[in-house]
Amino acid sequence: MADHPQDENSAPNQADAKPGVADAHLAKGVAGAEPPLDDFPSKTGKRDLSAAGLTSIWETVHRGARDMGVKRSLRTLLKLNQKDGFDCPSCAWPDPDDDRKTAEFCENGVKAVASEAMRARITPAFFAEHTIADLLHRSDLWMDQQGRLTEPMVRRRGADRYEPISWPDALALLARELNALASPNEASFYTSGRASNEAAFMYGLFARQFGTNNLPDCSNMCHESSGLGLTETIGIGKSTVKIEDFALADSIFIIGQNPGTCHPRMLTELQKAAKNGCKIVSVNPLPETGMIRFKNPQNPLSLLGGGTQIACLFLPVRVNGDVALFKGLMKDMLDKDRAAGGKLLAHDFIAHHTEGFDALVRDLDATSWETIERGSGVARAQIAEGADIALASERMICCWAMGITQHGSGVDNVKSIVNFALLRGQIGRRGAGVCPVRGHSNVQGDRTVGIWEKMSPAFLKALGAEFGFSPPEAHGLDTVKTIQAMHDGKVKVFVALGGNFLSATPDTHYTSEAIARCRLTVQISTKLNRAHLITGEQALILPCLGRTEKDVQASGEQFVTVEDTTGVVHQSHGVLAPASDHLMSEPAIVGRMALATLGDRTTVDWQAMIDDYDRVRDHIEHVVPGFAQYNRRVREPGGFYLPNGPREGIFPTSSGRARFTVTAIPEHDLGDGRLLLTTVRSHDQFNTTIYGENDRYRGVFGGRRVVFLNADDMRDRNIAEHQLVDIVSHFGSERRRATRFKAVPYEIPRGCAAAYYPETNVLVPVASVATGSNQPASKSIPITVEASPR
Ligand code: SF4
Repeated sequence: MADHPQDENSAPNQADAKPGVADAHLAKGVAGAEPPLDDFPSKTGKRDLSAAGLTSIWETVHRGARDMGVKRSLRTLLKLNQKDGFDCPSCAWPDPDDDRKTAEFCENGVKAVASEAMRARITPAFFAEHTIADLLHRSDLWMDQQGRLTEPMVRRRGADRYEPISWPDALALLARELNALASPNEASFYTSGRASNEAAFMYGLFARQFGTNNLPDCSNMCHESSGLGLTETIGIGKSTVKIEDFALADSIFIIGQNPGTCHPRMLTELQKAAKNGCKIVSVNPLPETGMIRFKNPQNPLSLLGGGTQIACLFLPVRVNGDVALFKGLMKDMLDKDRAAGGKLLAHDFIAHHTEGFDALVRDLDATSWETIERGSGVARAQIAEGADIALASERMICCWAMGITQHGSGVDNVKSIVNFALLRGQIGRRGAGVCPVRGHSNVQGDRTVGIWEKMSPAFLKALGAEFGFSPPEAHGLDTVKTIQAMHDGKVKVFVALGGNFLSATPDTHYTSEAIARCRLTVQISTKLNRAHLITGEQALILPCLGRTEKDVQASGEQFVTVEDTTGVVHQSHGVLAPASDHLMSEPAIVGRMALATLGDRTTVDWQAMIDDYDRVRDHIEHVVPGFAQYNRRVREPGGFYLPNGPREGIFPTSSGRARFTVTAIPEHDLGDGRLLLTTVRSHDQFNTTIYGENDRYRGVFGGRRVVFLNADDMRDRNIAEHQLVDIVSHFGSERRRATRFKAVPYEIPRGCAAAYYPETNVLVPVASVATGSNQPASKSIPITVEASPR
């Protein structure tokens, strides 16, 4: 970026800067923090209008054979998502409760497994050959293709490359740095959603015995708004839906979610539902392929012909127009209910199980259709079609993902969906409910067992009683606050249990500066990524076992447990030999970090937990409600459901009632030709991991730097198809720039734009967050689009 003539990211735009508006925090960033520009400009072509199908089968076979080899591929994939196998390390979509198919996975699950189980290895010789500066010029895809990390590595102060370090020396270095801190709160312990319940519980315990609640996690960035919005309205921050409910539903609203790429096996349930006559409504700015048609690769008959139509109605909501849209849906339902003499809404349910209905009615009556249509971008007639489906539905499910949560109004967006569901009592009965669909395989379980910067006093009390110590009570730092504290020099040691923190977080330049100001950064990882390259003064890579691998400890072979998006806790057993003899499991690494750091100060028998994960589960059972007889029940095939009051019609709010809430339609300053940009994921991508350069569902091939624009918006701005443009974000007087994107005309509402992350994370200020949840607002970015300098 340094050679860009107008590098807003490195200096405020003086012409626009207002006196007194501090732009000093705009970051120059560490070179290489952003993914490099494409060497091969992307091409666009025809997009697939049916998800999966034969292409998906080809991709599955090809990826498996290429990365794992045929034999290893078969051996691994036949155990993927099986009751005696291992859990997919990708998304958190649930497995069937009853019998499972031989191939119980999707194309993207195979990509994730092939990425982990690939035969390629990164040895110390690789790091001897490549300086960090060299690696920073490589693409994220290149890094993923280099293979598995095999040995602990250290970047010493002032060094330009990693060198090998023994496990004892690595742990001693970590312990020394942690124990040298003036306060435990100068350390922060991040968790990615792949960590098992056992590793996560031990990690949270270690942080709290060390003395801090600084436990940021990836949930801070994906579904924090869901957790808060749901807890405040129905008393629990999780899905109330079981997988079997999808077959029973007569309507399903999929909101701000792209299941075809992000949760592909969900399409199997949607296909079954559609065939049962269920009406599926897609609410999204982009018409995603998975919501149009689906050819189920597991069903030969489905592969013939055009596939199954999934959505019967598409509501093309503007980016961040969801509150307005749901007000419109509810206003129409209310009007029709009045006209029908009160026979359409669930007035009995509303009277006996909810509160706040009258205030919602007053708000809907006071909101004009003009406001609703302008705010949502959807015409009243189309909104009425959606409302009719909801009014005719006896069993309605509402699902959503980050298209809902990653906005300033993320919590209000979730509450609007709850309002909509409550109008006809669609929570607490079979075939109905609300379902935030989680993005990473155990992100929900990690939170359940204690990874949160503000766990309840009851949890902390139980943890203290179980282990005979006093956990810190003050709330810790979440992800955004950790970045800010690192930048301010208040957090000096940063430990990451998995993930790619740099690429997952907003404000890439600011975050890279924040990380670089740490004394020590530690990554517990399976694969190389950009987070290993932007480091503190010293850095450690601690290589760990993956989900696919056998985990043998002193008491024998272990399994770990995870919780899926519907609250099922089940086992995961690796099947492959570890990628290297030097790997440790995540529970073993955490336990040894604790032993090295806490020494005689600890009251915990860490070694017993490392030796036998049943002991970890015993402790979880004593500390976390819902895990009674954990070790016995999790050994039952398929595991067990955690308790969920709202699923049974019991709302654990302070009043015992579900709450209607009044939400405000968000306003954005979109004058001066601005657009509202949403970030999206390509089909060859899982979170920050890039598996390839294609996105066949959007017709993009061989590159990722594209920005999808409405053709009329392009014409108004004199932007030609495939012209190279810079994207400039606008927050107050601050400008941030992401350079050289190919402009692609796309079916997206006027005034809106979409582009891939992590390339566009650089545009999002760290302080642009959802009200209440502090979740980065990565899908509401006011931008202008400018021709790139030649
Ligand atoms: S739907 Fe999700 S969990 Fe299931 S195989 Fe695909 S990526 Fe893995």
